[in-house]
Amino acid sequence: PLVLGIESSCDETGIGIVRGTQLLANTVSSSMDEHVRFGGVIPEIAARAHLEAFVPTLEQALAEADVTLEEIDAIAVTSGPGLAGALMVGVAAAKALALATGKPLYGINHLVAHVGVGVLEGSVLPPTFGALLVSGGHTEILKVTSLTNDVQLLGATIDDAAGEAYDKTARLLGLGYPGGPAIDKAAKDGDKKAFRFPRGLSLPKFVGSAEEPGKHRNNFSFSGLKTAVARCVEHFEAAGEPIPVADISASFQEAVVDVITSKAVRAMQENGLKTLLLGGGVAANTRLRELLAARCASAGITLVVPPFSLCTDNGGMVAALGAQLVAAGAEPSGLDFATDSSQPVTNIVLEPRS
Ligand code: ATP
Ligand code: MG
Ligand code: FE
Repeated sequence: PLVLGIESSCDETGIGIVRGTQLLANTVSSSMDEHVRFGGVIPEIAARAHLEAFVPTLEQALAEADVTLEEIDAIAVTSGPGLAGALMVGVAAAKALALATGKPLYGINHLVAHVGVGVLEGSVLPPTFGALLVSGGHTEILKVTSLTNDVQLLGATIDDAAGEAYDKTARLLGLGYPGGPAIDKAAKDGDKKAFRFPRGLSLPKFVGSAEEPGKHRNNFSFSGLKTAVARCVEHFEAAGEPIPVADISASFQEAVVDVITSKAVRAMQENGLKTLLLGGGVAANTRLRELLAARCASAGITLVVPPFSLCTDNGGMVAALGAQLVAAGAEPSGLDFATDSSQPVTNIVLEPRS
């Protein structure tokens, strides 16, 4: 099927067009630059930017794919999770398109789309596989039995997401926004063993108690790490010494990546999963890719990492999941669905209101 995908959950307006598992166009317009001076995404500014960018982004994608709206078989749009106002712009636009063209509309889960993108670009995924989703808003380990109707949450962060930890730590170190790429770069000149920062929820006492064994086995926590970095910075400031930004960056990064990779690999082993798909914006991190590849290799797990342009928010991933839903004969969502800012990863496609 020829499917149009619309993404507007955060600061990227994305329109993607796929035919089956072939990506025909993937146009993204980001409002990132407008948020830089605030040190984070401002929801109202993001929503307004989507309104501005929607039609030009759509026209560019259609031209690039060399298809017309009439030729499209179905439309898929991110219904959640994400920023409420930002989601509403994309969903309202998608409904208008569906109404005008008579095409079926699917309201789909952004997180599952981050995983569904793995079917593009010739990657072959087995029927059941694991996924590690690391982004600005989420850090989750998933078991995917069927992309279109069975995604199970094995573990998630109980406080900050990995990308959020990078962004907050970068601010502490005066590295600016977005923090992920800045820390990744600074860490290259640092010693990752200079400081031993905490690995959240990995000590036996946090992993589970007698009453709740293994409660946090697959969960993450990054707020203690952020505090440890803050204390470390204060220590140097109080002593009137220069802050060793490169060493702190490298040590912080190692703490994040060590705990993410070891928990993900262990969860794969404990659930008998042989393939792991890495997704989300933090998948761009060089140390994460390196350590995850090494740990997957020694555990006999096949690691699938989509190209970076498909890991960050884009419409192609929404179209990819939409095409899977059409192929599986899933029922469209109709035109009456709302957005769901905290749509759980287990809710893959919104059902029509009866
Ligand atoms: P969600 O998908 O949870 O709604 P999001 O879509 O906003 O969140 P993404 O756009 O997928 O998140 O990723 C953005 C995050 O990725 C930011 O927090 C950014 O700092 C981080 N990031 C980007 N590049 C790197 C990198 N090289 N190393 C670490 N983090 C990175
Ligand atoms: Mg983003
Ligand atoms: Fe995302």
